[in-house]
Amino acid sequence: MSKFIFVTGGVVSGIGRGITAASMAMLIKAQGYTVDIVKLDPYFNVDSLYLSPYQHGEVFVTDDGGEGDLVIGHYERFLDQNLTENSNITSGKIYLSVINREREGGYDGESVQVVPHITDEIKRTLYTFSRPETDVVVCEIGGVVGDIENHPYLEAIRQCRGELGKNNAAYVHVTYVPIIEMSGEHKTKPTQNSVKELQNIGIQPDIIVCRSDCPLDAESKGKLALFCNVSSDGIIESVTTDNLYQVPLKLREQNFAGVALKKLKMDEREPDLGAWMDMCARAEKAKKAKKRLRVAVVGKYTEKVTAYQSLTDALKTAGLLRNAALDISLVACADVEKDINVLNGFDGIVIGPGFGERGFDGKIIAAKYARENDVPCLMIGLGAEAGLVEFARNVCKMTGASSQEFDEKTPYPVVNYSEPKMLKKGAFPSLITPGTYLNRIYGGMAIRERHRHRYGFSAIYEQLFLKNGLVFSAHSPTGVPEAFEIPTNRFFIGTIFHPEYTSRLLSTHPLFTEFVKVISK
Ligand code: GLN
Repeated sequence: MSKFIFVTGGVVSGIGRGITAASMAMLIKAQGYTVDIVKLDPYFNVDSLYLSPYQHGEVFVTDDGGEGDLVIGHYERFLDQNLTENSNITSGKIYLSVINREREGGYDGESVQVVPHITDEIKRTLYTFSRPETDVVVCEIGGVVGDIENHPYLEAIRQCRGELGKNNAAYVHVTYVPIIEMSGEHKTKPTQNSVKELQNIGIQPDIIVCRSDCPLDAESKGKLALFCNVSSDGIIESVTTDNLYQVPLKLREQNFAGVALKKLKMDEREPDLGAWMDMCARAEKAKKAKKRLRVAVVGKYTEKVTAYQSLTDALKTAGLLRNAALDISLVACADVEKDINVLNGFDGIVIGPGFGERGFDGKIIAAKYARENDVPCLMIGLGAEAGLVEFARNVCKMTGASSQEFDEKTPYPVVNYSEPKMLKKGAFPSLITPGTYLNRIYGGMAIRERHRHRYGFSAIYEQLFLKNGLVFSAHSPTGVPEAFEIPTNRFFIGTIFHPEYTSRLLSTHPLFTEFVKVISK
């Protein structure tokens, strides 16, 4: 049976509760324990299939094709571990299964209610994570204590301690401690109130993580311990940092995981954090570096920085590996359409994925600019579709070439839909063409990459493209092209799949490391 650590949020959302939960899991894993992690989200979307990146940031895709909150990406990167579609549970999933069961007559004539039926379903789902091979399950609850929406989750996790036994469940509450600018004083009252609200539900936190912009003074910590009924070693501060990977190290200085393990009656072991600390030290050095590489990420969701979370993370970690300081700018497709000069001066360009027609033209213009000026360019998903359309139109002179997605009647559907029309999502095998640049980058021929697209590159024009200097460098096992390159350019590679989803801090994806290597030359 696994032990559970529940992570709730207080005062306000968006303060890094996900990173805190990921840090806890990572620090325990670093001690040699096996961990799993799950996020319970209070919204009614069944998964992130239809979620706009404008609202929730990037939709993250797991190996098994799950479409989850972007925090799942953080979890995977912190744990260096593949998660599944079950790692993100939403109220939509929970209610759907309860309603389906009711429709099948599964409740034996009972009236179906939030308590006990929804809460039982939450617990049942949570307990599926309890496996002989998993020592600890970290479970993050979305939303903030006091929200109507997450109340059933809180009630369910309250019941868990009774059912699992008091040494098998620990509670971590992540709150915000504001600072009054005029006096420079920390205010603990919002946290006290939030903990009171949690206690009203019947949950006594074992640890309170206080997010703040400045370190907390001893008096504030003392107050929080006293009024929130938490031992003083359970008051942990988490000061704002621009490097998320620093967070677990800062928390570890305060024995964050140790306090939880003690609560769970588990032994503390010496963690293996050498490689992690090395990457963080490189990040600190990179901050001060004078020589900086400028990378443009061209996309349409640029108002929301988290819409390209995995992509920018992969670039940054690739930079760290090569000791290169990267300045990443999100450049809106609309701005590229207005004036191509916005791309002047960048050392490299990444044309990002996306859905929908808006921004497609901007991506085409960006690809043309990168190709003609031999600026290293990595194109992903819709970005790669744009790159191929551009090549067809401007190099192969296929007037009107386009994607069937945006022009059903195009004379040259160089990007087309596959039959049956469906979203290809999750990890699939691809075969790399021997002798290609991609082959050298991956150092092998059989790869597995994560996909999320309905449309893809058409195989019909393969010979024509080849004659004009563009090579399809990877294919699906059935022969559908999945990556292309222009060998005469320094780095001009497009992939229909998403290398950013599998890039990790300690094992950065080779496409990103190579991209940074080329731009740093
Ligand atoms: N809209 C495109 C498709 O469905 C590209 C999606 C993506 O960027 N992954 O094929």
